[in-house]
Amino acid sequence: MTTVSGDVAPSAVPGRRLADLVRARGAGADLAHEVDVVSRVLPFKVSAHALENLIDWDAAPDDPMYRLLFPHRDMLLPADFALVERSLGDPAALRAAVAEVRARLNPHPGDQLSRNVPKEQPGLQHKYAETVLVFPKQGQTCHSYCAYCFRWAQFIGDAELKLAVDGPDAMADYLRAHPEVTDVLITGGDPLIMKTDLLARYVDAALAVDHIRTIRIGTKALSFHPARVAVGPDAADLLRLAERVVAAGRHLAFMLHFSHPREMEPELTRTAIRLLGGTGAQLRSQAPVVRHVNDDPAIWSRMWTDQVNAGIHPYYMFVERDTGAQHYFGLPLERAHEVYRDAVSRVSGLARTARGPVMSAAPGKVVVDGPVKLPHGTAFALRFLQARDPSLVGRPFYAKWDPAAQWWDDLVPLDEHDRSFFEENT
Ligand SMILES: *Cc1c(COP(=O)(O)O)cnc(C)c1O
Ligand code: SF4
Repeated sequence: MTTVSGDVAPSAVPGRRLADLVRARGAGADLAHEVDVVSRVLPFKVSAHALENLIDWDAAPDDPMYRLLFPHRDMLLPADFALVERSLGDPAALRAAVAEVRARLNPHPGDQLSRNVPKEQPGLQHKYAETVLVFPKQGQTCHSYCAYCFRWAQFIGDAELKLAVDGPDAMADYLRAHPEVTDVLITGGDPLIMKTDLLARYVDAALAVDHIRTIRIGTKALSFHPARVAVGPDAADLLRLAERVVAAGRHLAFMLHFSHPREMEPELTRTAIRLLGGTGAQLRSQAPVVRHVNDDPAIWSRMWTDQVNAGIHPYYMFVERDTGAQHYFGLPLERAHEVYRDAVSRVSGLARTARGPVMSAAPGKVVVDGPVKLPHGTAFALRFLQARDPSLVGRPFYAKWDPAAQWWDDLVPLDEHDRSFFEENT
């Protein structure tokens, strides 16, 4: 593996050309054909940095970074794969097949993106009193796509599902009208897809509102395109912007998405982490636990330890949502909890700041504390870290034990009194 240096342009290969790339890397005609079929349905995009530095081509298709970034035939159900494959030579049939298969893949679990959207301002999500999520219109893509991403409907340009705020002024108007909000979380897509001057307009608009004390920026650019932070004038401007927020006495946090410890290895990424940390911004990490990529406690314990060494605080281990290729990436909650518990038991207390496995469900953020033996049998112990109804936060509750359950919707309350929030979906 080599490190690309000085590559500032976010050159990326879109899904339709990935088959050629797989062929060129000598990975075989069958694999290239699978890539061709699956990429008709799901969105793929791989950055030059990821191709050169993150994928171990000798281990493809089982390499975890290949699995994260490249189409795999099992991402579609066998009948759906066959349907698209059969239609390849006939453009009209192909369009119909792709539409049919996409409709079956649930793009918005629990309609997370359309619920909690303030009526007066689309592109903002205000679910918990103190925090507003901002989806800038110009930040609705990423340098590469994670194949497990629940935002894939945005990437295929499904207009109805797209939700983005028009601009910094619209965001600031909403924030001013809501004095209970202290935290702004700029997300996407990836906000670092925007040039710094555009991102700065959102950040400055938030800074101008006195009651906003914390600004978070969610990004996977350090993994997919670290030059964005480490090389060139736009990177230097970003570092200056971060210093400015810190100097203004606000908390600035970069919420870094790392799925696998390998993503932190390239020299350019290490440089980006060092530069970003040097601005006085806080660095925190989060990622979902998914099959084929990181469903192994050793991966997480190494990742969290490497992060603490680099000055990054582990924050969340998420459960993959019930969307897209969930049958491919999804894990039983029981297994997700085992991975969390085993990983956390191997690391320093400083790396145990990661909470998980966490589901972002309709009533709130639910952490799975694991199986418990109760007088009438085994149950899942659960807890809200965040809830639309603040009185639920921090109170343990139980769900019936189900070793196959993969998501909140699969769970049944043990106590009838809890049924109200279990069934909450608006
Ligand atoms: C996770 C999340 C937040 C932030 O919650 P914290 O507990 O502050 O990390 C805010 N809004 C939504 C919709 C979320 O899912
Ligand atoms: S970086 Fe985030 S938004 Fe972008 S594809 Fe990955 S999970 Fe989705």
